[in-house]
Amino acid sequence: MNMSQASSIAASPATLVSAGVSRLPKVTARDVNVYYGEKRALNDVTIDIPETSVTAFIGPSGCGKSTFLRCINRMNDTIPIARVTGRIEIDGTDVYDKSLDVVQLRARVGMVFQKPNPFPKSIYENVAYGPRIHGLAGSKTELDAIVESSLKRAGLFNEVKDRLTESGTGLSGGQQQRLCIARAIAASPEIILMDEPCSALDPIATAKIEELMSELAKNFTIIIVTHSMQQAARVSQLTAFFHLGTLVESGPTDKIFTSPSDQRTQDYITGRFG
Ligand code: ADP
Repeated sequence: MNMSQASSIAASPATLVSAGVSRLPKVTARDVNVYYGEKRALNDVTIDIPETSVTAFIGPSGCGKSTFLRCINRMNDTIPIARVTGRIEIDGTDVYDKSLDVVQLRARVGMVFQKPNPFPKSIYENVAYGPRIHGLAGSKTELDAIVESSLKRAGLFNEVKDRLTESGTGLSGGQQQRLCIARAIAASPEIILMDEPCSALDPIATAKIEELMSELAKNFTIIIVTHSMQQAARVSQLTAFFHLGTLVESGPTDKIFTSPSDQRTQDYITGRFG
């Protein structure tokens, strides 16, 4: 990261007002580049992502959506050949500050993946894991309460309340994904990153997750990568269109889908490529 820049990026209220989202920026990215070895996968990405709303990253496969998503909670750190430059802040704190505790960062920024990946443990233990390692519960009663409220917020509690000791991997795909969302919520995050969370799910399970996103956005900042423009249109307030490693444009979802500023966005949303 470029530590020589000013200690905090000035918020750009104009960007947010023009985005039609009257919320403070939760994540600010400036000139973010990602390289895999010699190959540059992201070119100077600059964006403000507003709090308590859903932001969708769209664009053709391989355009850098997941790469950028993974910058926000430093998941690219786990890829040895990946190198990130530029600056990303959450609430004004430099995510790449050397003194920052990455474990704490990932508690603040939860993640849900394409394929549901519950631990091979009970439903209860899947959700209790985060609060335990982060010391969020002072007693078993408190831990039970966190597990219950997280499962409720993930819209799963009623379906599993009588089998909390059964394995999480025995649930249906859609239920497993909601369990992963409950697991993320239980660690008390501020931001939840979702990397194509519905691509392995059937339409009914997808609809449930989409409903859930709107509900979750009341309390969390949700950022979703999706290959489905329909999904972006349904769930997000802000949409960012990526193409060949470049953030072409971002703005209110209805504007991006009805009157985009850039010809490349126009071509993508009208199905000319992708
Ligand atoms: P998207 O999410 O839009 O499909 P990605 O962020 O996955 O795109 O990929 C962007 C580019 O970076 C692609 O060219 C892809 O091949 C490359 N890439 C992604 N992950 C890796 C990796 N772990 N190692 C090397 N190259 C990668």
